[in-house]
Amino acid sequence: MVLVRHDRIEAVGRQLPVPAGAVVYDLGGATLLPGLIDLHTHLMGEVGVHWEEELLKTTPSQAAIYGVKNARDTLMAGFTTCRDMGPTWPFTDVDLRDAIVKGAVPGPRLQVAGNYVSATGGAGDARQFSPYVQVPMVQNLADGVDEVRKAVRTNLKHGADFIKILATGAVLSKGILPGAQQYSDEELRVAVEEASRWGRPVAAHAHGTSGIKAALRAGVRTIDHGSMLDDESVELLKSRRAYFVPTLLVGKVILERGQSLGVPPSEIERQRRLGDLAGNSLVKALRAGLPIPFGTDAGVFPHGQNAREFAVRAQWGESPMHAIISATRVSAEAMEWADRVGTIQPGKHADLIAVSGDPLKDITELERVRFVMKGGVVHRDELTNHARGSF
Ligand SMILES: [Zn+2]
Repeated sequence: MVLVRHDRIEAVGRQLPVPAGAVVYDLGGATLLPGLIDLHTHLMGEVGVHWEEELLKTTPSQAAIYGVKNARDTLMAGFTTCRDMGPTWPFTDVDLRDAIVKGAVPGPRLQVAGNYVSATGGAGDARQFSPYVQVPMVQNLADGVDEVRKAVRTNLKHGADFIKILATGAVLSKGILPGAQQYSDEELRVAVEEASRWGRPVAAHAHGTSGIKAALRAGVRTIDHGSMLDDESVELLKSRRAYFVPTLLVGKVILERGQSLGVPPSEIERQRRLGDLAGNSLVKALRAGLPIPFGTDAGVFPHGQNAREFAVRAQWGESPMHAIISATRVSAEAMEWADRVGTIQPGKHADLIAVSGDPLKDITELERVRFVMKGGVVHRDELTNHARGSF
């Protein structure tokens, strides 16, 4: 039994007295879990629109409208907290976060990146056009320590919760290759130094080994993707108390359905070359006993399918319980939100989900979430007789 008062969990136990006037949700034989957490989403914009297209043919308001739909789809799938790793149209994610907080639209609790920081010609340089084409509203490129410092300050000024920096090349890019470090050690250090002044963490997109290690030495909090972890990276993750956030589903999706999702052939080829490296990184991290949070890169594939990541991780040897803790408690710790989400404990937000079956026997149960409560408000209920939104 979980006693919820307003938006918080008040008590948890086998037998609790039911206060007079309480609404009772009897979930029967379902399995109750803390709301799931995804540390790597891109909620803004229409899925299937490549970012270069997005910059030339769409507007920030279009990105925002689809962002509202995507946030709702994500919440309905049981993900009550997400870290958004940045939109193509800068700072639209800040507005989505705030609209959700105000209750104007339903969606997960969000930490947002605002405008990810990239080097010219690097992973986050979306403007792969003729040099005569400018997209003046997008100013996410920063080269050299002074520009990196200014980009960090600008992001935090405009409401970013953390800094996302692109430490290496990317798969979904025509710039420098995923294996290559795109920022110098010094630029990465300055990004972390400046963010720390504001008390904010840095998340590094990093595939290649040298970029992973440089980002860790600089003091980033998470290594996202982390496709080419070596033994030294694992040691650095441990000693720096940083987190490796694998995103394996997205690679599979790019290979299998990339074309229909608008991914250019050159970028599908980049994914093909990465091959099994990302899976091998997960195996290494599991063997080392690292705390591994949960991430997906949803946005490359449709939102609400985030839980498909579990099955891919299971194929690389992760146990169901490890996976559940990853997507709840460990992800909350990585977000520095362990005081409010990630477990079902008194004092935390009443973010609860339920599935009909036993996810310890079949982790894909988490792809079929039947009940979603966020902050004490029921958003999905296919398990009880209550009408939706009855309180
Ligand atoms: Zn991403």
